[in-house]
Amino acid sequence: MQIDGHCHCGKVTYAAEISETRTFVCHCTDCQQFSGSAFRVRTVIPSANFKITSGSPRTYSKTSETGTERIMHFCEFCGTHLFGSGTDITTGISLSTTTATQKNEIMPMAQVWCQSKLPWIEALGSLRQIEKQAFGKG
Ligand SMILES: [Zn+2]
Ligand SMILES: [Zn+2]
Repeated sequence: MQIDGHCHCGKVTYAAEISETRTFVCHCTDCQQFSGSAFRVRTVIPSANFKITSGSPRTYSKTSETGTERIMHFCEFCGTHLFGSGTDITTGISLSTTTATQKNEIMPMAQVWCQSKLPWIEALGSLRQIEKQAFGKG
């Protein structure tokens, strides 16, 4: 699937060719911390299938739980995290698919790092659903 996306402020944009079979929900604690949310949706793609079309993301290096160094690529203006890679970016990237214009169509195929999945995730479907803001300005 051909997709395109951008950070919140729009200074960094990208285009990518992805496969839904390599798209997953990640419940790891890094994804929770970086997103400020319960999980991220990631897709793993060859670097040749990914192109920054405007702007230039900043990077942050972290050491994963398995001891490998990972580079996080984010917009320096709005802070949106766009993708991660190894120290050699040519070996592939993992893209946050909810930054894509086509995010509604990109269905994850699996959930990973479920050992750190937040305990209330399973209950989300049974919660009251409100169309828009309910508790004041967010
Ligand atoms: Zn931005
Ligand atoms: Zn993760």
